Amino acid sequence: MGFPRMGNPEPFEVYAIRYATDPNWPRWKSYVHDEAPEERVRMDFFSWLAVNRAGTFVIDTGCAEGRLRGMHIEPLRGPLATLDALGVRAESVENLILSHLHFDHTGNTDKFPSATIHVQEKELAFATGPYMRFEYFSRAYFPEDIAHVLRQEKKGKVRQHNGRFEFAPGISLHLVGGHTMGMQVIRIFTKRGWITLASDALHYYREVELGRPWSSNAFSVADMLDAHDTIRSPSDSADHIIPAHDPLVLKRYPAVSAALNGLAVRLHEPPMPLTDA
Ligand SMILES: [Zn+2]
Repeated sequence: MGFPRMGNPEPFEVYAIRYATDPNWPRWKSYVHDEAPEERVRMDFFSWLAVNRAGTFVIDTGCAEGRLRGMHIEPLRGPLATLDALGVRAESVENLILSHLHFDHTGNTDKFPSATIHVQEKELAFATGPYMRFEYFSRAYFPEDIAHVLRQEKKGKVRQHNGRFEFAPGISLHLVGGHTMGMQVIRIFTKRGWITLASDALHYYREVELGRPWSSNAFSVADMLDAHDTIRSPSDSADHIIPAHDPLVLKRYPAVSAALNGLAVRLHEPPMPLTDA
């Protein structure tokens, strides 16, 4: 099922913030039935920011540097420093959307003390439920990150959603599941139309192009493939879908500034065509 069309809201500026990179990610961890499992590829790690006159939304919060090094992932400039350069102070952010609760999307959440955390009810249930007895699922969740969300829940600073939620015209959350039980994607109106931040419902563009499910930590292959349809159908074109870990995002979209080259790009600007990237 696609997303409903919604009027002509105030457009958002949307930024992808690259905070880490892994130059040697093995493809055998990537795709079900991959044709080149021994090949190594680059995997980039992102947070996102959506801003218009009505509001500021931070989407996912990266991962602490020390933890990244422990996993042989190379930290770049942390997402908080880049947010700062974009004029957004973590302490004053009111809306923090967590696409899901995996370690590379949920670190640093404690640096946003004023924020209400928006997460799917199913994701929190999954991350604290009986499936965590399987290392296959639990290895991507850090108990400290989950504990922080639970602590904030107790303070009334967490909003658990059950499916679709519209914050305001032009920005909404959509439960897709698949990669995790409560994976959600974020749909945002920009001056170039509706874009979908797919987060880990799409790690690389090729998943949706080839209809390939992602193998690492997969909760439901069927829901993952359904999610491809959900992401594709309402986005204004394939160029309006943003994957979470693909280095092509950096190549396709213009850098915010020379100082932020390699660290932040403008997703509200038209991208270079995929074939030329
Ligand atoms: Zn991820």
